Amino acid sequence: MICLGIEGTSHTFGVGIVSSKKNILSDVRDMHTTNEGGIIPVIAAEHHKRVAQKIIEQAILEAKYPKIDLISFSRSPGLPPSLHETRKIALELAKEMNLPVMRVNHVASHLSSAHFHTKVKDPIYLFVSGANTQLIVLENKRFHIIGESLDIAIGNCLDKFAREIGLGFPGGPKIEELAKKGEYVEIPYLVKGMDLSFSGVVTHLANLYKKRIKKEDLCFSLQETCFAMLTEVAERAMANCNKKELVLIGGVAANKRLNEMLNIMCKERKSKFYSVPLKYSGDHGAMIAYQGILEYEKNKKIKTETNSYERIDELDVSWKY
Ligand code: AMP
Ligand code: MG
Repeated sequence: MICLGIEGTSHTFGVGIVSSKKNILSDVRDMHTTNEGGIIPVIAAEHHKRVAQKIIEQAILEAKYPKIDLISFSRSPGLPPSLHETRKIALELAKEMNLPVMRVNHVASHLSSAHFHTKVKDPIYLFVSGANTQLIVLENKRFHIIGESLDIAIGNCLDKFAREIGLGFPGGPKIEELAKKGEYVEIPYLVKGMDLSFSGVVTHLANLYKKRIKKEDLCFSLQETCFAMLTEVAERAMANCNKKELVLIGGVAANKRLNEMLNIMCKERKSKFYSVPLKYSGDHGAMIAYQGILEYEKNKKIKTETNSYERIDELDVSWKY
């Protein structure tokens, strides 16, 4: 089976074509970025509308015009204008090509991409993206969220602070670069049991910036502190659930320092650390296509509504990795 997957929950419009033999035939994307300020949802949706045709055509061309059996798209969770535009694009394409369409959850697709790209079997998932920071475990055909941010996500924390200091979107890679030349200044460390909090960190850093503390030092301290918080809860999740594997997914998984810290922690516990390849850590179409295949084989019911708030623990995990 060959599936064409369309991602468009937020900033990125991506199309991936994947076969059930686990081959990525193509993966093309275009990310809406800014030089200053964050993402405005309706502008992100306009971006998707503008680039859709070109990205779809390029994905089909790069895959060498395969015989596509199925279309899938990310229906949840995300920014409502982006979700609606993506749904519209997917349904129009499915109609044009006379193909069945699957709606899939974006977060489940990120987790499935970990199984696609690595040998991980039964891990604690640490999902770190622009909108989510969650520790997840799969038990009895359900994902359980065993720890999460009580306010903003780690990605959003990085992007918000980047905006405060005049960097554009996405802020994570720019902060990672500046952090290389920084020194530590103390900032709040906010872990509450298995949960985390990042919004106070942004306010604190913004105040230090007004006091003319160097950008580089603030970026370094932000990474060291927030990533240590993530490492602490990830370690506790592994201990509490008796898991010997940790897998890191989501856009912030591109960060080398975060990977390094988690890797050290796992080594010390004699456990295995996995991270998806950098290219596939952020939002992209291939993970949506793979999720379409996983769910189609078990669950052919076709539902196409969008849902901007659907949490991963609401899903029935009908598929097997
Ligand atoms: P996603 O929502 O999964 O597409 O991830 C997007 C988020 O990943 C944004 O908040 C980015 O700032 C963040 N991000 C991307 N690259 C990096 C990086 N190298 N370090 C930290 N965060 C990153
Ligand atoms: Mg994402």
